[in-house]
Amino acid sequence: MDSTRSDNLAIFARLRGRRCAVIGGGSVAERKTRELVRAGARVTVLSPDVTAGLRDLERDGEIDWLEQAFSDQTLAGFWLIVAATDDKSLNEHVFEVAEATQTFCNVVDDPERCSFIMPAVVRRDPVTIAISSDGHAPVIARWVKGLIETLIPQQLGALATLAGRWRGRVRTAITDMDERRRFWESVLEGPIPDQVYAGRPAVAEAALEQALDRWHTASGARTGEAYIVGAGPGCPDLLTLRARQLLSQAEVVLYDRLVPAEILEFARRDAELISVGKRAGRPSIAQAQINRLLVEQVKRGKRVCRLKGGDPMIFGRGGEELEALAAAGLPFQVVPGVSAAIACAAYAGIPLTLRGVTQSVLLTTGHTESSADLDLGLLPSGQTLALYMGVARYPQIAEALLAAGNSPSLSIAIVERGTLPEQRVITTTLGELTEAAAELDIQSPALLLVGETTGLAEQYGWFAPERHVAYKGAQSQRRARPARAV
Ligand code: SAH
Repeated sequence: MDSTRSDNLAIFARLRGRRCAVIGGGSVAERKTRELVRAGARVTVLSPDVTAGLRDLERDGEIDWLEQAFSDQTLAGFWLIVAATDDKSLNEHVFEVAEATQTFCNVVDDPERCSFIMPAVVRRDPVTIAISSDGHAPVIARWVKGLIETLIPQQLGALATLAGRWRGRVRTAITDMDERRRFWESVLEGPIPDQVYAGRPAVAEAALEQALDRWHTASGARTGEAYIVGAGPGCPDLLTLRARQLLSQAEVVLYDRLVPAEILEFARRDAELISVGKRAGRPSIAQAQINRLLVEQVKRGKRVCRLKGGDPMIFGRGGEELEALAAAGLPFQVVPGVSAAIACAAYAGIPLTLRGVTQSVLLTTGHTESSADLDLGLLPSGQTLALYMGVARYPQIAEALLAAGNSPSLSIAIVERGTLPEQRVITTTLGELTEAAAELDIQSPALLLVGETTGLAEQYGWFAPERHVAYKGAQSQRRARPARAV
């Protein structure tokens, strides 16, 4: 399944006063009935026999119970049908009738026969958090529910109710939508929620009133701000908390193509997402144009998140963007990201420094205007070289390193798509680099690591080890772990 696709649209159905049917009268049917009743639906239970709980509901007038045998016509006129009998063919039949009449139907424990599913739910009424695994793994959905239950304060609902009561007043007081959002965000990040959670709604309300007054008198033309943010090497879990916070505040997100879709999900739903290209060997928007766009948006008062792969200040051209922002007198913040060298080394099990073996790291690039600019030189012993970009030029890089007097038996590792599920690590030697690159068809993004510790990937590679390739000369490196005093 494509990670950006799903078999279901998440919607909340307004069932209050609407007729729904539950076929079956056992405990599962009772549970589903109760959920429907909770949502205000007018439920008819169709079953010759029902649980004591369902009888109680009927006696209390909460549901209708239809005891006698039913026909296909009986199933007409409902918005939703839940089939929860233990008769498989009856369930299937109900589903077919529902399909024919375009009625949403859920056959319990039969994902193939569900035109709607009921997610696991965390309730903080009026806030509802629904979790679904698209029917693949209800256990995971329930596990996530457990996690979320511990994260969300029980009184969140009270806060939402308070905010709901003030919504109209705030809308009248602050007419600009972006500014209104900022107001609410400042409320959520301030002390007011804690007052609600502490059971002091009156204090919270007074504070809200005061905040609104102050906001209104203090408001004027608001300036925007640029957030220059590192998105890390690709795995969304390696995003920093700060990056997430700023990403979820920004009204505009300018992102590089190396930034995966899962990370963009953290942006606000109404944020304007603008791809500014940048992928090896493909035409992309010129840096000057990105700088202009950034400055323009911030000037318009927007909070703009400039999201870059890895760290923004390491081969990320963050410096040029700061220069443009500073020249325009605009405010900015910079958030570091896990850079490819750090991430790839960690995920390949390669210590960039190792006591007694390597004590310096050089971050450099293979992407230069001409090969004459490739100034790679003789590696001092005890140094690890991390070479960004330039995958297409590995032959020239190998040539330059050998010409500078580096030994052909020097260990190297190439980490392709580091930290992503498809990560591939290739260990070999400098002498075999050209051949390995051609034979193994290495694709960007990949990071080249050169130095004595890179061979350790064979022993310590812990992530996706099944895609580790020890290419030719690499084998001998494993045993040769030099121990030299620093
Ligand atoms: N600012 C980024 C680097 C941008 S230059 C950072 O700090 O990581 C782009 C280069 O980074 C790629 O050509 C590749 O050499 C390296 N790179 C980025 N992500 C990578 C990944 N997931 N795996 C391997 N190399 C990666």
